[in-house]
Amino acid sequence: MPLSADILLLACYEMGHQPLSLAWPAAVLRQAGHTVTPVDLSVTALPRKTATQARFVAIAAPMHTALRLGVRAAEDVRALNPTAHICFYGLYAWLNADYLLSTVADSVISGEYEEPLVALANHLKESGHPDSPDSDPVAIPGVSTRAGRARPHMSRLSLPVPDRAGLPDLSHYARYLENERYALSGYVESSRGCLHNCRHCPIVPVYGGRFFVVPFETVMADIHQQVAAGAEHITFGDPDFLNGPGHAMKLARALHAAHPNLTFDFTTKVEHIIQHRALMPELRALGAGFIVSAFESVSDEVLRRLQKGHTPADMDLALEILDAARLPVQPTWLPFTPWTSMDDYLAMLAWIRERGLAAHVPAVQLSIRLLIPPNSALLAESPPGALGELDPARFSYTWRHPDPRMDELQARVTVIAEGAADGGSLAAFNAIERLAYGMANRPQPVRGPRGVRLRPTPPRLTEDWFC
Ligand code: SF4
Repeated sequence: MPLSADILLLACYEMGHQPLSLAWPAAVLRQAGHTVTPVDLSVTALPRKTATQARFVAIAAPMHTALRLGVRAAEDVRALNPTAHICFYGLYAWLNADYLLSTVADSVISGEYEEPLVALANHLKESGHPDSPDSDPVAIPGVSTRAGRARPHMSRLSLPVPDRAGLPDLSHYARYLENERYALSGYVESSRGCLHNCRHCPIVPVYGGRFFVVPFETVMADIHQQVAAGAEHITFGDPDFLNGPGHAMKLARALHAAHPNLTFDFTTKVEHIIQHRALMPELRALGAGFIVSAFESVSDEVLRRLQKGHTPADMDLALEILDAARLPVQPTWLPFTPWTSMDDYLAMLAWIRERGLAAHVPAVQLSIRLLIPPNSALLAESPPGALGELDPARFSYTWRHPDPRMDELQARVTVIAEGAADGGSLAAFNAIERLAYGMANRPQPVRGPRGVRLRPTPPRLTEDWFC
């Protein structure tokens, strides 16, 4: 049971990883002399005594699900401790700052959030009781309050090694699964933000095409400490590992030199697979077990609207490059958007099947519906109202598809994905295919030998959710 603390840090969901969104703030806050209790609510219940006594409660909101759960956690904290200062930090906190500040939050921080968090913690400590008029942190750079809004904090901080003390051990999180063997998995980030501006991406309104490299020594020390804690696999959770290819390769080489049996995975876009094709065989040789890449759609029109920077032909070229390097890919998809037709959905299923990728795509990936949060770059491209009204409590615009079958299909694919054994399988893919062709009132194509092509089952993590 955690001890009482000045600061309670809460994470609610980080896609099955031990939360870096707790470990980095814990490191900088402890360095600044604060007593911190980090709690991952995806593993542990809210520590009621700590929540009652904390003067400052900071809740990580790196993504949509985390924010949804975080709001509930904030309500629980508020009920226990009406005078605690509650701060939300992370990408989704800033996108939804208006709603959060009008309901459960006293402040919101985003971008490179560690420095503002420390400044806010210092301010609250120095100004005494959170109810004191002096405790309003309106003037702290990077901190938004009801009295005034700040831009995401974009100042580069030489990040220290994440402090993972007090977090649940790695056995509580997603495993790396290869050849029916489950291995403990760690998680690091070697960069934050992204150089690109895909319109649907929540990173874009916050980082605006910028990215920050984490010092090499920091990333390596974090890898070493997780290997010492039992990790046999590392996920590089950067939005795109190859935004800084020199930095990425230096890390991959050092990882392999220090831990020759360690495997790793990373995320990179189709454009980068093509641009850096020469690196793929070496990354495989250094221990890359698989990569994740956002293919998103087989519709040129949808890819253009999302400003993905690739075409379906590029996706085939990326597959060829990865096949040659023997590097498996988990393509991720955005199958439900206002611009994706029934024909596009069927074409996506056919594309996946014909390339032998059905076992590479978790069923949940075939159910994902475009989220359009406040401040999304997509809003600038659409006439007012075209993407529905904002539902602030759901953190998204409520678009509906012009073809009502698509909304129904999305709901029914979600049911199949939720019931899929172990995240997904060929059986789930087949069920989704039957459903989609049935709703389109079209016969399923008769599969020739190519249609039943299967690649070897790729390694994966036991958590399939990506947003
Ligand atoms: S490349 Fe990936 S992380 Fe970067 S803006 Fe596009 S979707 Fe976001």
